[in-house]
Amino acid sequence: MNINTHLAAMPAGYLFAEVARRVKQYQAENPEADILRLGIGDVTRPLCRAAVDALRRAAEEMGTFEGFHGYGPDFGYDFLIDAIIAGDYTARGVEIGRDEVFISDGAKSDVGNLQELFAADARIAVTDPVYPVYVDSNAMAGRLGAYRDGKWEKLIYLPTNAENGFVPPLPGEKADVIYLCYPNNPTGTVLTKAQLKAFVDYALENDALIIYDAAYKAFIADEEIPRSIFEIPGARRCAIECCSFSKTAGFTGTRCAYTIVPRELKMGGESLNRLWGRRQATKFNGVSYPVQRAAAAVYTPEGQKQIMENIDYYRENARVIRRGLEQAGIRTFGGVHSPYVWMKTPDGMKSWDFFDLLLRRAQVVGTPGEGFGPSGEGYFRLTAFNTLENTRAAVERILNVL
Ligand code: PLP
Repeated sequence: MNINTHLAAMPAGYLFAEVARRVKQYQAENPEADILRLGIGDVTRPLCRAAVDALRRAAEEMGTFEGFHGYGPDFGYDFLIDAIIAGDYTARGVEIGRDEVFISDGAKSDVGNLQELFAADARIAVTDPVYPVYVDSNAMAGRLGAYRDGKWEKLIYLPTNAENGFVPPLPGEKADVIYLCYPNNPTGTVLTKAQLKAFVDYALENDALIIYDAAYKAFIADEEIPRSIFEIPGARRCAIECCSFSKTAGFTGTRCAYTIVPRELKMGGESLNRLWGRRQATKFNGVSYPVQRAAAAVYTPEGQKQIMENIDYYRENARVIRRGLEQAGIRTFGGVHSPYVWMKTPDGMKSWDFFDLLLRRAQVVGTPGEGFGPSGEGYFRLTAFNTLENTRAAVERILNVL
């Protein structure tokens, strides 16, 4: 068999493996060191009570003849689809139809699998720095050419940095697909409606598709900031939106997400709603009934109150990080509508050098910006997913070494 040479040629999953290697080595050399981790991208607070109760009830149902559920509907149960539409869209004045919602086991798999809809030679654009899945899934499919000096030959990079206020420029050459993630991982920044509209207008004018990753939308604290790209007129003709219960409701280990593919969305005369449905029905057999019940429980009044308590807890951590760093004269970005604080490294340090400095002198772990793409060099990501106590302690230690 001839293997997929694009997959074989992928650079090693460098970032988190390298972070783990350096931390492990430091811990081995300094067994007494009490390392505080602000590199965590996973939630740490337990599932909310409403979701746990729904999971338990559904598990009991599954043990009875009347309540047993085998394979579910291909694209998810209506009770969850209806709860999503009412809670996340109708409430914000956005109309979404039942047949436009596809329940899945994760936004990561959806954003990774959506590239199966694109032609082999589609030109891909990403904001830089970026959540690596968009890039890697297209590289594995052979769309990005060779990887040289930390860059993919055929990838269109849209740099975001302090100079442009983390507002990505429109592609300078014709892009077929643009990946946008807001609130952004890793920079924690958001786009206004007007800034997002510029991308929708570009996509409509250039027959391009936007894959909009809204995995962190629950962190948005300002009514004026769009939670969905479908709040922008015209987006139904050019965008697919991926959402997740992972960060909204702590489902990282429970697994449930959804993707919206509008009926009007056509590329090359074909309905992408039909193509995605065809793809999912062939390769995916659905999310378990108890998990879909748990996800639906997130939309009950108790569920909403409980998940917001967790989100507020993380928001407070982000505020502690931001405020501490700013007091020390460090430029920080994000961390208001996001669990991620993006900071400029002091004195223009390289991001890996700053990583080593923090690990050795403060015993604090973060994530070097360069690992998210070339424009991440000179930046560093701290996350709000530790406990408040550890977050305060970590910030104090960071300030002591700055
Ligand atoms: N999208 C972004 C931008 C993320 O940062 C993450 C997880 O960190 C995901 C998607 C993954 O979501 P899920 O847990 O639903 O696969």
